[in-house]
Amino acid sequence: VSSPLKPGARVGILGGGQLGRMLALAAARYGFKVHVFAPEADSPAFDVAAERTCAPYEDQTALSAFARSVEVATYEFENVPERTAALVGGLTRLQPGATALATLQDRFAEKSFVAGLGIRTAPFRAVGSSDELEAALATLGRPAVLKTRRFGYDGKGQALIRPGDDAGKALAAIGGVPAILEGFVPFERELSIVAVRSADGAIAAYDLCANEHRDHVLAETRVPAGVSAATEEEARTVAARIAEALGYVGVLAVELFLLVEDGAERLLVNEIAPRVHNSGHWTIEGAETSQFEQHIRAIAGWPLGSPARRGTVRMQNLLGDAVEQWPALAAEPGAHLHLYGKARTAPGRKMGHVTVVRPA
Ligand code: AMP
Repeated sequence: VSSPLKPGARVGILGGGQLGRMLALAAARYGFKVHVFAPEADSPAFDVAAERTCAPYEDQTALSAFARSVEVATYEFENVPERTAALVGGLTRLQPGATALATLQDRFAEKSFVAGLGIRTAPFRAVGSSDELEAALATLGRPAVLKTRRFGYDGKGQALIRPGDDAGKALAAIGGVPAILEGFVPFERELSIVAVRSADGAIAAYDLCANEHRDHVLAETRVPAGVSAATEEEARTVAARIAEALGYVGVLAVELFLLVEDGAERLLVNEIAPRVHNSGHWTIEGAETSQFEQHIRAIAGWPLGSPARRGTVRMQNLLGDAVEQWPALAAEPGAHLHLYGKARTAPGRKMGHVTVVRPA
């Protein structure tokens, strides 16, 4: 473990979306200078960064200059191309590291890793051809969910295969790329746990979040999730074991399915995000230390802050046109409004969020 970064040091962020923007704001709070690297000229994170590079992730010259300009680099999305991560990681400290990225970018590697830890997931099979898909369907049954191994998010690159459906069509629908087939999980609710691991191996986790999606996009998060103390504890253990096994430094989010079987709660891991997460936005006002501060603390080699919750929390995403409610939300006492500064509104696009914290 190298010595902690001093205020004034430069922190690089790959990716310029709202997660990068909120990370940059948290870094600025601690006196760091942020350099954002993103391909899109209108990246929300550019507005709040000390330095910006607008270039494709394949631009080696721009990437090298970026990496050399920062003491540590991180990323705000998990689909950073492998070569980009390798180049940056060869020139500066990249946190979370290459192992986490390689394991969590590929759904099959990710699920195999989780299952290898003895943690429950949906049953799954790798699918590389229509024959393998038929064989996997025969084993896992229908309905089943076909997902691309790479580059999926918010339900993109996914197809549900029901009894009677043409499996070949589903494979074509996701582009015929390497895939994973998962047994359908009849979950009660969707939860997530946001946790952080420091450079010296300390771990902190926030309380479990209850998440509601609309058209596969997160719409709302509530904390506490209203589950048993044993389930809360199990989620913490799952997150800690995953972080430890990856030698992880930074914030990660584990998306979970909650099953209720014979009245007993059971957790399954759906997906791990090697980054700050939408379901952790409530921590900005709802916790002693936000997920963005925690991530910056971790990658800077600082001690972690307290993840303690400050009350009963509800975070709502402002998706698409909902952002037009901002004048009313700005006038609402206790509504903490965040707008991401995106010029273009599209249906389902994350334009901002609003958090309300009530005394517990
Ligand atoms: P993912 O991209 O893996 O996060 O999946 C997006 C959403 O699809 C999840 O939030 C679930 O609502 C649903 N989903 C994914 N996998 C399964 C599964 N194996 N069984 C049932 N629903 C699923």
